Amino acid sequence: MSNPDVMDKLVSLCKRRGFIFQSSEIYGGTGSVWDYGPLGVELKKNIKDRWWHAMVRSRDDIEGLDAAILMHPRTWEASGHVAGFVDPLVDCKTCKGRFRADKLEDARCPQKPSKQPGQHDACALTEARQFNLMFKTHMGALEESASIVYLRPETAQGIFVNFLNVQQSMRQKVPFGIAQIGKAFRNEITPGNFIFRTREFEQMEMQFFVEPGTDMAWFEQWKAMRMQWHLDLGLSKDRLQFHQHSAGELAHYARAAFDVTFDFGGTLGFQEIEGVHNRGDFDLTQHQQYSSKKLEYFDQVNNKRYVPYVIETSVGADRVTLAALVNAYREEAVEGETEGRVVLGLHHAIAPIKAAIFPLTKKDGQPEMAHAILSDLRNSFTVDYDETGSIGKRYRRQDEVGTPYCITVDGQSTVDQTVTVRDRDTLAQERVAAGSLKAYLAAKLV
Ligand code: ATP
Repeated sequence: MSNPDVMDKLVSLCKRRGFIFQSSEIYGGTGSVWDYGPLGVELKKNIKDRWWHAMVRSRDDIEGLDAAILMHPRTWEASGHVAGFVDPLVDCKTCKGRFRADKLEDARCPQKPSKQPGQHDACALTEARQFNLMFKTHMGALEESASIVYLRPETAQGIFVNFLNVQQSMRQKVPFGIAQIGKAFRNEITPGNFIFRTREFEQMEMQFFVEPGTDMAWFEQWKAMRMQWHLDLGLSKDRLQFHQHSAGELAHYARAAFDVTFDFGGTLGFQEIEGVHNRGDFDLTQHQQYSSKKLEYFDQVNNKRYVPYVIETSVGADRVTLAALVNAYREEAVEGETEGRVVLGLHHAIAPIKAAIFPLTKKDGQPEMAHAILSDLRNSFTVDYDETGSIGKRYRRQDEVGTPYCITVDGQSTVDQTVTVRDRDTLAQERVAAGSLKAYLAAKLV
């Protein structure tokens, strides 16, 4: 059975609780561009940090990179984006709507009743024409064709053009990889579904350079490792699946491709969150040709030169953030209470706030003790302080943003220096010595 649609509830929760706001909202918003608020920026950062740790810091064979967004325009000719990064578009002469010709079944005509474009008698769709998804701008003072540059539509090309710089400066031997996290821009025609498909987004990409002939074995390894990463992030096993690209779906550069797909529920259902691709030697060969610079690897041991093949893992930080939110959202009845609670059961490691500290009352030294605990924990964890409203309301507020632990300072605390710690998921409360909170939380927050 497919999962329920929680998207509308999440959009509202994310706005209300400071996760995600529509960009330039006071001007009516910018189409499919979103801003991350105080809690959203922590959540996404935690996801990016986990990826960086898994891909770069915990391995000897992958190096990090932060390449510029603006690249030499020839890059995009070599990569195939100028000629081929296009979507087929149709216009409707009646309603002036513009739709993806290959996704008409997902689109809705603005005429009533709601139907797919082309299905009303009055619809007048044009022939499909190709529309390039890259954002163009000009570099320097002159707005002429020679000064055209593009906002990168993917981070991968910054890695390919730096292949030898990284390999030689870091004395890496093939097989090795280069990883980076950065913004990418696509002038998507049918954006939407909140942060699922946006025009400005962040990618976490890794290109792993291997000897030709060893590529399929590496491809299988990376496929498995990337699926495990999503599982380790707490995404439910039954919401994750591989989708293999058929010969017809394969991109021009790909020898083999699998998507990791996640079940977003509702009408969206299973959708790609990550692509694992065997790109062969397409990119390095193209850049050699367009730049006239050799991009070969010299294997000293076997005394041979070759252009490595590339296994790529490419995942959207925003799409994984949305998957984590969808996966975590639940509504529960609470025993003895008429009002239920909304919980974001986020994996501890990515929860924006790890612990919230409450004084039960605003007197008797409780706020002072709670503040002392707050500053003690602050260096180790992201923490929050709340003294407004009933304790039940404060718990609900933290449940809704996924805070794993709530620490309450009460009348007993100022006498015996103990506090209660409440667990977000089990609702169990434990009395813990205030002095041992740091160790207690460190052991729990794994
Ligand atoms: P789609 O088919 O959904 O357009 P794609 O196959 O073009 O995606 P890739 O070019 O393989 O995507 O990009 C790798 C990853 O980058 C995707 O799995 C996704 O997580 C993310 N991504 C791509 N386009 C967008 C977008 N417009 N908004 C948010 N994330 C995106």
